[in-house]
Amino acid sequence: MNKLAICGGTPHMTKFDLPEEMFRWPIIDEASENAVLDVLRTNRISGNDITVQFEREFAEWNQTKHAVCACNGTMALEAAYFAAGIQAGDEVICPTKTYWATCLSAQKLGAALVFANVDPDTVCLDPADLERCLSPWTKAIMVVHYWAHPCDMDRICAFAKLHHLKLIEDVSHAQGGHYKGKKLGTFGDVAAMSLMSQKSFAAGELGVLVTNDDEAYERALAYLHYERNNGRNITTPALQPYLHMPLGAMKGRANQMCTALAREQLKHYDERTAEIRKALNYFWDRLEGCPGVHGIRVDESDGSDMAGWYVPHFVYRPEELNGTGFHTFCDAVSAEIAWKIPVGGNFPLHTHPVFQTWDPMGLGKPARIAFAHRDVRELDRALARSEGLMCAEVPYFRRFIPAEIDRIADGFLKVIENIDELRGFADASDARADGQWYGKVNKTD
Ligand SMILES: *Cc1c(COP(=O)(O)O)cnc(C)c1O
Repeated sequence: MNKLAICGGTPHMTKFDLPEEMFRWPIIDEASENAVLDVLRTNRISGNDITVQFEREFAEWNQTKHAVCACNGTMALEAAYFAAGIQAGDEVICPTKTYWATCLSAQKLGAALVFANVDPDTVCLDPADLERCLSPWTKAIMVVHYWAHPCDMDRICAFAKLHHLKLIEDVSHAQGGHYKGKKLGTFGDVAAMSLMSQKSFAAGELGVLVTNDDEAYERALAYLHYERNNGRNITTPALQPYLHMPLGAMKGRANQMCTALAREQLKHYDERTAEIRKALNYFWDRLEGCPGVHGIRVDESDGSDMAGWYVPHFVYRPEELNGTGFHTFCDAVSAEIAWKIPVGGNFPLHTHPVFQTWDPMGLGKPARIAFAHRDVRELDRALARSEGLMCAEVPYFRRFIPAEIDRIADGFLKVIENIDELRGFADASDARADGQWYGKVNKTD
């Protein structure tokens, strides 16, 4: 008899007492501290010298010709749209389930966002939905390697090539990851990513754009920077009259306390994320083949990987567990491991009014279609299958300590093996399965 805690049994764990060091991230060692202190002591916070060094190192590591830093990932992504030449009236295809910063800024450039469905198993852009989104005005596809899972780049690249579309990657969840042996962020015309402190590559508030294209590089530099938008750096003829101004009308440069920290983090990133993958592969191996709980992971045998595995999730399939409700299941596991399982990830973006009605410039039309050739909002009707996806988080282990990881896996297994006890439990009818707009904040807050 193994009565579940939610039914009044003894919990598998009464306290979530795994060693704190298993979750500590980023790892701030003395070298990281000294790098930041040195910036302070030499008063170089607003300079560019350390940033330029980091850009060189990052570009080499990411196997791209160029890298440009920005003050955050949002600005780097905005610069990526500009670098790719997105203009008013262009349509950009973007997955609906992602963080707003992936695409909200494209509206500033006058683009119309066409949201695509995500694959229910990987929660990444579903290549099978691209055809539906295509029109004569489609200019680019934005992909997001969501929750560190690499997108299906074979199919997406082939589609982009066939239709002469620009391809942009948001690598904010998957810095350093690979798809079939090739580094993420090298598939498209330009890629950008966040290195903010919650991400797996964590360096404060920082963003990076990478590209192999010289003109895209110069356009990004000119968009984000005023000092670096000079005659030495910028040779593109069309940009020549506009030197010395930030063409994005914002100061986009990075704070060098962050780029100094990023240089130190880069030195250890591959080794430290390899340990994360070892820990999470071990955890998911323990649950492999279990009904109901399908870890979002890749088969590494073809050279793909989950990078820093930001943030480990599973897809829930109630039909494999007697139809047990998603929230009931998560509550039952939470009760066993004394850790409240966060559900969902980001709400599908097309459901937010900022993409439906918001008209910041008073044009008499929502920003999303201000310059569009058609009302792309009508296409949102096909996105119902990306709403209410049942995904939830598991503890984000950063250290490989098998005995501790086993405790969590056993908590999941206890619920799965005793699922019959949850018959008749009613799922909370007012709870949404698909998460929040950002962080852990609920939509109603
Ligand atoms: C965090 C994040 C961003 C934005 O990065 P910031 O550095 O926070 O501005 C963009 N896209 C995705 C998918 C993200 O998770």
